[in-house]
Amino acid sequence: MDFKISDELVAFRESVRAFADRDVAPLVDEAERNQRTPVELFGKAGKHGFLGLRYPEDVGGAGAGMVAEMTLRMELSRVCAGIASALSVSSHLGSYPIFAFGDAEQKERWLKPILAGEKITCFGLTEPAAGSDVRGIQATAQKNGSGWVLNGRKIFITNSPICDLAIIIAYVDKDAGIDGMAIFVVDQGTAGFDSSRRLEKMGHWSSEIGEIVMEDVEVPSENLLGPERGGFKRVMQTLNGGRIIVAGGAIGVAEAAFDSARKYVAERDAFGKKIKDFQAVQHKLADIALDIQAAKHLTNWAAWLYDQDRNPSWEASMAKLYSTEMVLRVTDLALRLFGGYGYIQEFPIERYYRDARMFNIVEGVSDIHRNIIARSLSL
Ligand SMILES: Cc1cc2nc3c(=O)[nH]c(=O)nc-3n(C[C@H](O)[C@H](O)[C@H](O)COP(=O)(O)OP(=O)(O)OC[C@H]3O[C@@H](n4cnc5c(N)ncnc54)[C@H](O)[C@@H]3O)c2cc1C
Repeated sequence: MDFKISDELVAFRESVRAFADRDVAPLVDEAERNQRTPVELFGKAGKHGFLGLRYPEDVGGAGAGMVAEMTLRMELSRVCAGIASALSVSSHLGSYPIFAFGDAEQKERWLKPILAGEKITCFGLTEPAAGSDVRGIQATAQKNGSGWVLNGRKIFITNSPICDLAIIIAYVDKDAGIDGMAIFVVDQGTAGFDSSRRLEKMGHWSSEIGEIVMEDVEVPSENLLGPERGGFKRVMQTLNGGRIIVAGGAIGVAEAAFDSARKYVAERDAFGKKIKDFQAVQHKLADIALDIQAAKHLTNWAAWLYDQDRNPSWEASMAKLYSTEMVLRVTDLALRLFGGYGYIQEFPIERYYRDARMFNIVEGVSDIHRNIIARSLSL
């Protein structure tokens, strides 16, 4: 494998850590308790260039690529997975379709303010009756003069309760099958568009998710991203990068759990010695270290392939599947090392354990990634 962590990336990681410690960490307890995203962080992240890392400079990005983007999610997730997830929608899922399929005017109007942290975006694909089965979505967009009328419901949409605009996937022609799907932008405040309903969830409390209801939402033709047809392929292209970034988030939470467990076992006494001196405890920590390292290698590799324009698909699925299953194993083992305190909110390990549960659901459940990997085996 001929990728390596460059000196620039090491320096970048330090700058993200400094941002996380200085600007994010002080907000975490309140944001988690109130289950609200600290929206002021979008502007701060934008000023540091963290929302446009992977995009070229001419659209307001930093041109740093997917390895940097994934590293950002990893480092922010060490401090708070929920906040990292909210910011990540602006830096990828909710901005990539505008970057990749939008024209110059659309980039100027929506992408630049998203990357600057002035506008918050979301990505509306999942519906009450269709998640993994993207073809099964029901949302429609009907031609109305030169514009479109959108109808449908989206659910579990990260940032929808706080969004200024939404990327919406809908059928323009259901009879044409997946070829009849298209991607739209809907601005907050458009008549018939309601994204106010929040959903309560198990973890990632500081990341708000919700429902979007669209009833005869009229948008002009300028709100269509790319051609009228072929949206399915463009959605898959968007998700492909997102999977590598989510893998980074899972690794960040696993590292946070590892760090906190290492600290705890060095301080806790039982049977007249520190619990770190029990070989069974050391073996758990060895298993954790190995699992995290394996996930990092897979994920850095997939991100690196992405940056080489090698269009990783099963490779991204391997990184996503392994990392998001790994974080479940790691947070479980780490929590065990805390004994009763693992179950009490005095230590962040219980948050890591809850937060870990999300990663293998979003951007394709584990079974979908096993399907993609199996397909690549030409069985
Ligand atoms: C916290 C959170 C944030 C989210 N954010 C967003 C967002 O910002 N935007 C967005 O659009 N969506 C978002 N989602 C939705 C998420 O992407 C979907 O929940 C996910 O894709 C799974 O879809 P589903 O819930 O419909 O499950 P289903 O598709 O109903 O799957 C349920 C189960 O059925 C099985 N299954 C389904 N299909 C197959 C198959 N082909 N092979 C084998 N087994 C299968 C699996 O066991 C799977 O776990 C979010 C979800 C959560 C929980």
